[in-house]
Amino acid sequence: MAKVLIIGAGGVGSVVVHKCAREPEVFTEITLASRTKGKCDAIAAQLERPIRTAEVDADDVDATVKLIEAVEPDLLVNVALPYQDLNLMEACLRTGTDYLDTANYEPPDSAVFEYRWQWEYHDRFRERGLMALLGSGFDPGVTNVFTAHAAKHRFDSIETLDIIDANAGDHGHPFATNFNPEINIREVTARGRYYEDGVWVHREPLAVKDRFEFPEGIGPMSIYLMYHEELESLVHHIPGIKRARFWMTFSENYLKHLEVLRNVGMTRIDPVPYDGGEVIPLRLLKSLLPDPASLGPVTKGRTCIGCLIHGIKDGRPRDYYIYNICDHQACYAEVRSQAISYTTGVPAMIGAMMMVTGKWRGEGVFNMEQLDPDPFMEALPRYGLPWTEKIW
Ligand code: NDP
Repeated sequence: MAKVLIIGAGGVGSVVVHKCAREPEVFTEITLASRTKGKCDAIAAQLERPIRTAEVDADDVDATVKLIEAVEPDLLVNVALPYQDLNLMEACLRTGTDYLDTANYEPPDSAVFEYRWQWEYHDRFRERGLMALLGSGFDPGVTNVFTAHAAKHRFDSIETLDIIDANAGDHGHPFATNFNPEINIREVTARGRYYEDGVWVHREPLAVKDRFEFPEGIGPMSIYLMYHEELESLVHHIPGIKRARFWMTFSENYLKHLEVLRNVGMTRIDPVPYDGGEVIPLRLLKSLLPDPASLGPVTKGRTCIGCLIHGIKDGRPRDYYIYNICDHQACYAEVRSQAISYTTGVPAMIGAMMMVTGKWRGEGVFNMEQLDPDPFMEALPRYGLPWTEKIW
């Protein structure tokens, strides 16, 4: 039914390809392209079904346009890095191709997380009759859909939203990140920010800490307030939210390493003089850390990501928690990836499926909560991400 071009052969890209390959009636032709073609070929060799592979520098709009013209996809799935978002959206506009990604655009030289740059493309996509779906991973992605589901079916009005992301897994390395180290560390070292009563409140990075009792035997863990991009779109699109925050768990070990790396300047993203040339310390650090795609075989434990919501239903106050639990080893057994790549790649595949089957259609640029949550919620357990709700 549809040809799909997937860009980025990393941890997430591998899961997207595995999952799309299992749906031959929907994704009749798959092309995986990335900066390093060898990585695409290694993923292709794991599949039961043939796919095409290609090399492309997604920072080069002309090169991407050429590839799109050769492949003629119905949809481009961007699971490269946030730096490529705008160039890939440009290439889609030039070729008349729909677009999907899992992370908002970030300028390489400043760690700013804002939808502004991508929202500015809305009119151009609308005028071309094209659809761009932003943030179709887990968080952002499923967390947006969970909130839209709660707003549609469980509440008359939502007052507070806390998105809580736990990785209760362990990979045995002294320090490693479970998705792209550069992107991960930029996010974690950014200032904390949350929304309250119409304004954004700023905090020092990871300065606000709390405890949360995670379900199904995971138990209590420390959670840290961070800024995360879905907060911006959710307070924009879900009317009436008074407070929205995002929390993530980190082990003491991770935080200690991060503190030392920050103190010695290794998380800096500006070029520093080195040996007659220049080096960006965070990029150097990335090249030294384990590749997240290599963590699959060694990661054990579970992730738990969900939304804790307070609001009003039928005139009464209501508390509500909706979450997914994912087991690292079960993910590896299924698609040879740990749960972070899995929980991102599966929603990217489902988002792609929603678009190419016409269940989600629109002209312009959309965040996940703007579309009907029902078909996406129905698909989540079918493709490996069951969800559970608690109401009290
Ligand atoms: P990886 O670093 O493992 O993979 C990124 C891939 O993109 C690599 O194969 C890399 O190529 C390729 N790439 C980078 N630059 C270019 C370029 N200019 N042209 C072509 N290909 C390029 O990252 P992940 O798979 O962990 O993450 C992928 C995306 O998913 C990121 O944007 C991340 O922010 C997002 N994400 C979203 C989450 C969510 O829940 N919404 C959660 C986790 C991640 P090479 O191998 O040659 O370096």
